[in-house]
Amino acid sequence: MYRLNPHRLNRTSFNSVMEESTYKKKISRRTFIKGSMITSTLLALGLGSSESAFSVNSKKNNNDPEGKTGATPLIREAMFYKKLSHDRVECEVCFRRCIIHEGERGECKNKQNSGGKLYNVVWSRPSSIAIDPIEKEPQLHMLPGTYILCFGTAGCNFRCRFCQNWQLSQQSIEAIGYFYPLGPTAAVSEAKKRLIPTLSFTYNEPTSFYEYVYDIAKIAKSQGLNILWHSNGAMNPTPLKELLKYTDAVTIDLKGFTEKFYKHYSQGELEAVLQTLKIVKNQGVWLEIVNLVIPTANDDPQDVLNMCEWIKDNLGDEVPLHFSRFFPAYRLTKLPPTPIETLERCYNIAKDKGLHFVTIGNVPGHIYNSTFCPECGKLIIKRMHFQVMENKIVDGHCSFCSHPIPGIWKT
Ligand code: SF4
Repeated sequence: MYRLNPHRLNRTSFNSVMEESTYKKKISRRTFIKGSMITSTLLALGLGSSESAFSVNSKKNNNDPEGKTGATPLIREAMFYKKLSHDRVECEVCFRRCIIHEGERGECKNKQNSGGKLYNVVWSRPSSIAIDPIEKEPQLHMLPGTYILCFGTAGCNFRCRFCQNWQLSQQSIEAIGYFYPLGPTAAVSEAKKRLIPTLSFTYNEPTSFYEYVYDIAKIAKSQGLNILWHSNGAMNPTPLKELLKYTDAVTIDLKGFTEKFYKHYSQGELEAVLQTLKIVKNQGVWLEIVNLVIPTANDDPQDVLNMCEWIKDNLGDEVPLHFSRFFPAYRLTKLPPTPIETLERCYNIAKDKGLHFVTIGNVPGHIYNSTFCPECGKLIIKRMHFQVMENKIVDGHCSFCSHPIPGIWKT
């Protein structure tokens, strides 16, 4: 594990990102754990410290741009952007379409214009890597009970007041101050070495580290691994479709169902998210939706009903919908945790509307954290929070009545 010197990385010293000297300071295991809460999962699983887990080499190696040897790789030019006059560029990856001047960065803090070219400054520089149960994503219809190797970097294109991972998502890589130099090939090797069937991009918005996701996904798919990502859903259609070619499953946050909510709480756009949901579904990639229910902000029953109607009409009745419990975080600490009755009301609205796979999350032990067969009503996957206690799905069918259950059930 190597620590960046935040004082040596700033917008005017972009080229210093490439300097070997930037990575030289080693941090202790203790500092590392403090710096990244989620990484403790990795340690708890007995995979060792960051140093032994990834054995990275601090030396830049120009003969190894993909980081195959674990050496610090080169920086990556962005895939989707337009060159404009006066050395400006327009990033085309997400709904914001940032116009970026020479030496500046886009809204997500990860795309930098250097000499009229756009670069992704967090490519091969994840600031968080951990092993999670796939249920934590949540992906409840994909390989239940398996693990995923998760990556997160600095940056995000949204500004959610309730962000649970704001230490990563709302800061630049310099402000976070550390990363793991891990190229795409080396990242895939880490999953293979541990027999983890799926790599996941989560913790912060994958749109903001698109090129890293894309490069890993291409390699992982060629080696028989699965790719999953959890997104706010505001990627533009062209980069989205390109990435979906190498994607098995996507979890999309549908944070609310009014433009007013998106603008006020997230500085996002509902329309962009709805467009993404339709594209993912139409491309045949497995899709699950999460709605974080925030008291007084997005819990109006009429809005929830409108959302469920839209899902049924546009995506069908078999897309899993998870209502997740909000806990105060970041800039939304004055609101209480979501009452359980509110979550149950949302659940009932969705079920009454005819959605087949509705669950409640972030409430350990709740009965609706489990999955029921829409045909016979029997419990087919029993969960305790992120743990699968029983799985009664056999070859993609309910073992009680043989009704087909959609999802990804085989590696
Ligand atoms: S990905 Fe970043 S730089 Fe590109 S348009 Fe979105 S916020 Fe702007």
